[in-house]
Amino acid sequence: MASLQNKVAIITGASSGIGRATAILFAAEGASVVLNARGAEALEEVVDAIRRQGGTADAVTGDVGLAETHEKLVRVATRRFGGLDIAINNAGTVGPIKPLADVTLQEWQDTLAANLTSAFLSARYQVPAMLEKGIGSLVFVSSFVGTSVGLPGMSAYAASKAGLMGLVKGITADYASNGIRANALLPGGTDTAMAGDNAQKEWAAGLHALKRIAQPEEIALAALFLAGPMSSFVAGSALFADGGNAAVK
Ligand code: NAP
Repeated sequence: MASLQNKVAIITGASSGIGRATAILFAAEGASVVLNARGAEALEEVVDAIRRQGGTADAVTGDVGLAETHEKLVRVATRRFGGLDIAINNAGTVGPIKPLADVTLQEWQDTLAANLTSAFLSARYQVPAMLEKGIGSLVFVSSFVGTSVGLPGMSAYAASKAGLMGLVKGITADYASNGIRANALLPGGTDTAMAGDNAQKEWAAGLHALKRIAQPEEIALAALFLAGPMSSFVAGSALFADGGNAAVK
């Protein structure tokens, strides 16, 4: 039987890369998925692809740095599909690529808004919906950058992604006793738009013990593990899906 049958999942950043692969996998596993990104066209393409394969999907466009986006995502999950079981808080931005002293306050704040404040806002709306059911799984997509390594010019990104680890522990302390599991997923370099051009991907491949970067579908499988019943005793943790990157640092 499909592992997410009768489950309802919010997936942010679902129009591309890891979020898109996760949306398609979760729908194939039986979940009703409520998908988000800012751009409508690419997001609708994912919704259409899922529906063509017999899956159930809906879309909510909006910036994850805004509370109203999460309020609407949860409203669609609960009113249209009857509740919320899973949230893959995946949308993110790489932010400015420059040495720290050249980063403006605005660039810093924009990066934290998209990567960290967005996570607070998502949980702020998702947790109450999960409390209604007495069970839920929150996954925050972090990165190997900020935990395993610092990379030149990526301080704002690294700080925002490392911050997710603290948030996961706090949510666990607050709500695990209510049946809500929160975990961080730390992908290694992954073959998406965010990974840059071929030269950048080749450079990133060399950082990993497997000497390659991931396909987004491989990260989606790790998200499926954290979202579903196979990780029922995994809470407050950080799962590295990083091709051995952390192990060889
Ligand atoms: P991607 O292919 O560029 O996809 C990013 C997705 O997020 C798109 O759907 C984008 O759509 C959406 N998005 C970006 N900013 C948003 C915002 N403010 N509000 C709502 N949606 C937003 O990137 P990806 O590689 O799959 O990245 C997914 C996550 O994995 C990110 O959190 C990233 O930091 C993390 N990660 C990636 C790698 C890697 O090497 N690729 C490694 C480690 C971690 P719109 O632009 O239309 O909004």
